[in-house]
Amino acid sequence: LIVPDHLIIPFIEGDGIGVDVTPAMKTVIDAAVEKAYQGKRKIEWLEIYAGEKANQKYGENVWLPDETLDLIKQYHIAIKGPLMTPVGGGIRSLNVAMRQGLDLYNCLRPIRYYEGTPSPVKHPELVDMVIFRENSEDIYAGVEWVAASAEADKVITFLQQEMGVKKIRFPQECGIGIKPVSKQGTQRLVRAALQYVIDNNRDSLTLVHKGNIMKFTEGAFKEWGYQVAKEFGAEPIDNGPWHRLVNPKTGKEIIIKDSIADAFLQEILLHPTEYDVIATLNLNGDYISDALAAQVGGIGISPGANIGFEAAIFEATHGTAPKIAGQNKANPGSIILSGEMMLRHLGWTEAADLVVNAVSKTIANKTVTFDFAETLDGATLRSTSEFAQDIVN
Ligand code: NAD
Repeated sequence: LIVPDHLIIPFIEGDGIGVDVTPAMKTVIDAAVEKAYQGKRKIEWLEIYAGEKANQKYGENVWLPDETLDLIKQYHIAIKGPLMTPVGGGIRSLNVAMRQGLDLYNCLRPIRYYEGTPSPVKHPELVDMVIFRENSEDIYAGVEWVAASAEADKVITFLQQEMGVKKIRFPQECGIGIKPVSKQGTQRLVRAALQYVIDNNRDSLTLVHKGNIMKFTEGAFKEWGYQVAKEFGAEPIDNGPWHRLVNPKTGKEIIIKDSIADAFLQEILLHPTEYDVIATLNLNGDYISDALAAQVGGIGISPGANIGFEAAIFEATHGTAPKIAGQNKANPGSIILSGEMMLRHLGWTEAADLVVNAVSKTIANKTVTFDFAETLDGATLRSTSEFAQDIVN
């Protein structure tokens, strides 16, 4: 893929604190690109609309216009602030709609500690992991019913009569959810994760699942994941299930292993250095992302991306924080570091490195927004825009 030096990047400002954090992100990313490339490379920002702003521009009840998805497809990239999920109107979540509409199957969440960040654990500096969360399947596919309805009764009858499922004894009132997990969906995610391990010279890939209980979905995820390891040339260690692969680029040994999700949530607290790159299903990935983010400063500073074959959307991982919206108060760290991921995705690594170093120095200097200042001794309180300007400086 050839990335032009003059690049148009669509952005969605986002609802709530989007109005605070998104302009801060643009200021920092523009400054990093200018400093790294001295005018030879440039980003032109193109505003596209979703959420409340789409509603104002395109008319009532238009939360995610087709034009927005078309422009992301056209430019293959976008960055977005948080979006409020409208109540009613049949929309489960704008974010989910966007991920499904563009088949952004990989939710990428790097978890990295910045020195000086307040943390509830003793050694947050030991936490350095990258989560690949499957983004399109699992219980989040949104296939669910209320059992009292006629449709649900039909499903129960079908499962009993056609599929031979014997043990269905639903009480009168209950919800039913279906959890699809496919070989193709699993393997494209695990391939992306293992390729990341190779390209970034990381130590290991852990497949996290609940295959001991849900054998045909989570258990299959594990088996299909190990098949991908074999496809890359990995060999079983002592007859498996763990595998070993020599990194073709660096000669370093890579371990491919698996862990049961509940035990894994203990493990990341007890032995964080044992884990590196993680590949997991949608729901596990949701829990693990926030549990790990909490150890390194929380959602205010955790970046994220949703990546597919045709497009990638980089996004703040937090919500719209309505209580502090429009007050120039919110921490813009999450969307700024998502911008850093975007620069890296484009191959603009010099600018990406400048952003990471500058965020790192700003936090180490204890010039921080209110969420960090509250618990950090000797901190200087900064507004959203001041914090962004400190990073630029
Ligand atoms: P939230 O992330 O908005 O807020 C949770 C807590 O974290 C609040 O106390 C908030 O003030 C604080 N917080 C969040 N971001 C912060 C930041 N950058 N700096 C400082 N403090 C910050 O989650 P919520 O309250 O559950 O959700 C509010 C709305 O956001 C809902 O409509 C929800 O649907 C939406 N939401 C959107 C996304 C997204 O677009 N990716 C993600 C989560 C929630």
